[in-house]
Amino acid sequence: MNCVSPKVFLVGETQIVSQGLQDYLNHVGAPEWTSDAPSDAEKLCEVMGRLCYRSFSPGLNPNVTRVREGNKPYLANIVDVGHGSVLEHAVVNFIFADVSRVVTHELVRHRAGVAISQESLRFVRLDTLSAYVPVHIRENEKGMEVFVRTLEQLEELQLELADIFKIDEEKKFDVKKKLTSAFRRIAPLGLATTIGWSCNFRTLRHVIEMRTDPHAEEEIRLLFAEVFYLVQKRYPNLFSDYEVEMVDDLPWVRTGSRKV
Ligand SMILES: Cc1cc2nc3c(=O)[nH]c(=O)nc-3n(C[C@H](O)[C@H](O)[C@H](O)COP(=O)(O)OP(=O)(O)OC[C@H]3O[C@@H](n4cnc5c(N)ncnc54)[C@H](O)[C@@H]3O)c2cc1C
Repeated sequence: MNCVSPKVFLVGETQIVSQGLQDYLNHVGAPEWTSDAPSDAEKLCEVMGRLCYRSFSPGLNPNVTRVREGNKPYLANIVDVGHGSVLEHAVVNFIFADVSRVVTHELVRHRAGVAISQESLRFVRLDTLSAYVPVHIRENEKGMEVFVRTLEQLEELQLELADIFKIDEEKKFDVKKKLTSAFRRIAPLGLATTIGWSCNFRTLRHVIEMRTDPHAEEEIRLLFAEVFYLVQKRYPNLFSDYEVEMVDDLPWVRTGSRKV
């Protein structure tokens, strides 16, 4: 058995098509407009927000005599007034590896604004089992002994089933798939696996708020702590309203503008 902890890989993000944006700015009469956004994601959210009122520069819309300058104050105001739909335009793509089926089952409850691809345990046959060991178990010698013994037994049972059904000698992939799917039924809920998770920034904010809450489960808190630190650094203006309080050595990420 392998003891593992959740790993976050940021594998994709929104990119602006500069020529297309410039063509639009020429079209709307704001060819000189630029942004000090630190990332394309933040710039795109700003553009999508500003186009609503044509607030790229004063006078472009006769009703607008002054505009909010700067990406950070602009997005802070969007969050403050709750115009969360603007944040739906930009997306991020993560792969979460070595996360348990406890985590993936909780994560997929978040339906709005996400895309999910989960490692298939009908196709991927289990051999060595990996798992995150929660702190209470980790810090208790007897608890740890039970945990490891159980995982090792379940690991042996996977190999035993593979041997009973001679799956390695099976030529038909369809049969292999059915057997693999049957064997996984005795795998533990704590089994570490992989999930691809993409979301827009409105969703990302909501899920960070929900899943770093001290009432959330330990492993998913650990996962979203890592996600939070990563995205706060990379897209600072989309998370500038967040405050962090450490609870049980993990960040509780809070804001006065919850679920925009
Ligand atoms: C600490 C904690 C404990 C939990 N305990 C349990 C539990 O015991 N049992 C259990 O079953 N679940 C539990 N959950 C899961 C929880 O009930 C939600 O299903 C999960 O957090 C998904 O969040 P969401 O409902 O905001 O949906 P998301 O998909 O994240 O949606 C975001 C927002 O979009 C809106 N939205 C999304 N879908 C719809 C819709 N169909 N109609 C209208 N508006 C929509 C809502 O405003 C929603 O808040 C728990 C979650 C947490 C964080």
